[in-house]
Amino acid sequence: MPKKVLIAGAGLVGPMLAIAMSKEGHQVTLFEARSDRRKISQDAGKSINLIITAKGLKTVEEAGILKEVKAITTPVYGRMMHSKTGELTFQAYGKDESEFNYSISRAKLNMLLMTLAEREGVQIYFDEPLEAIDFENRQASFCTHKNCQYDLFFGTDGAGSVTRKELVRIHAGAMENRVEPLGIDYKELFMPAGEQDSYQIDQKSLHIWPRGNHMLMALPNSDGSFTMTLYMPSVEFEKLDSSEKLKNYFETEYPDALPLMPDYQLDFEKNPQGFLGTVRCNPWVYQDSVALVGDAAHAVVPFFGQGMNCGFEDITYLTKMMKCHSDWATILEEYNQHQKLSDDAIADMAIENWNVMSSSVADKNYLLRKSVEKILENEFPKKYKSRYGMVVYTLIPYHFAQRVGLLQKEILETLCSNLLNAEEVDLKQASVLIDQKLVPYYREHNLSLDNFMP
Ligand SMILES: Cc1cc2nc3c(=O)[nH]c(=O)nc-3n(C[C@H](O)[C@H](O)[C@H](O)COP(=O)(O)OP(=O)(O)OC[C@H]3O[C@@H](n4cnc5c(N)ncnc54)[C@H](O)[C@@H]3O)c2cc1C
Repeated sequence: MPKKVLIAGAGLVGPMLAIAMSKEGHQVTLFEARSDRRKISQDAGKSINLIITAKGLKTVEEAGILKEVKAITTPVYGRMMHSKTGELTFQAYGKDESEFNYSISRAKLNMLLMTLAEREGVQIYFDEPLEAIDFENRQASFCTHKNCQYDLFFGTDGAGSVTRKELVRIHAGAMENRVEPLGIDYKELFMPAGEQDSYQIDQKSLHIWPRGNHMLMALPNSDGSFTMTLYMPSVEFEKLDSSEKLKNYFETEYPDALPLMPDYQLDFEKNPQGFLGTVRCNPWVYQDSVALVGDAAHAVVPFFGQGMNCGFEDITYLTKMMKCHSDWATILEEYNQHQKLSDDAIADMAIENWNVMSSSVADKNYLLRKSVEKILENEFPKKYKSRYGMVVYTLIPYHFAQRVGLLQKEILETLCSNLLNAEEVDLKQASVLIDQKLVPYYREHNLSLDNFMP
């Protein structure tokens, strides 16, 4: 039966959910706290870039908007590491060129999704922050729209969610609700296109300048420019309090990037310093009528590139449950239980990946294990896929990928204990270990290693 659905927050997950719910025949209204950026934004190309991968693409495909979304993406095939002395090391993401990621501007995607939601008949109100929810009477109040009646209410209002605060209130102390700061902040910088819109560094890579407890990252835009993100501990940001100190820092740490970023001082000054943290809460739902989706339920740190992807996966699972059950209390309960497990796992793996990206990618032992892993993926394509590959190229839920990753770690430790050269890995021993440790786990949980790369 068609429901009256209200959604608070038109970032990425909100409009995506609105499209999915509208396609299911519900009457959807979206309320966004900010103004309509399509009317004011001139610099969408300069927004933070995201990686959209299998789980996000699956949701996009199910909503019938794959073609439109893919049209604003740029493919990236691996990580290009920049050492302080300017040496470049390329590490492919996948086992071959069929495995790659799509880079996409967050602002462009946000604007596209809002337009596609409106095309589906969704009404969007801007400058309308959610203020309060009356759970018993199923009414929500926004800035000027008061006491709006709903059958279903979804909070997609991001990490600082007001919906979550309202759920904490109604669950009266019986709700887990924590924000765990990583202690690392970020700032967006910019590398413009070169002559005739050419890319100044390799356009098919995500670039990383790994420096231990801080790093610079660059993702390509479709117009020849790169969106750069500087990550470092909050206290270190505070030390860069003069243009002289900032210049020294860049000259010492990123000498090859510096000449390509003419406005880095200006960007550093004008762009806000972003906070990174993990939101863990439970339950995410209230009876048969209210649920959190996306960052509002489970913001994660960005080092696996999965925050939006896991928010989109929430939508895939929710719509799957809508097809299995007719009562909303069961749909929301099943959604909460499954996605909490999955999203807790990606939250942990994303924190772990901060160390991988900022330091391990430059570590010889790590690189040896990665090379061995690539050999195993090519030798045993039906039985071995790296944890990274499972997270980004398959639809295997994150908690299973996390568990398989631990089993793989044991295998790699055994295979690499006395190994100096990846090419000399003992493939017979590898085959035995894979059959003993991994294959039974796939069977038990019915996991398919097939890629989803539409
Ligand atoms: C540096 C960085 C890099 C990232 N890289 C990736 C990546 O590569 N891949 C990936 O998948 N994810 C990435 N992420 C994570 C991704 O950006 C988020 O997971 C995603 O934006 C979450 O979408 P959302 O719609 O849940 O929340 P948001 O995008 O935060 O949207 C929330 C919306 O709600 C609105 N809002 C807030 N309060 C209210 C209110 N009271 N009432 C109504 N509206 C309200 C906000 O204005 C906003 O529009 C990255 C994040 C960062 C910070």
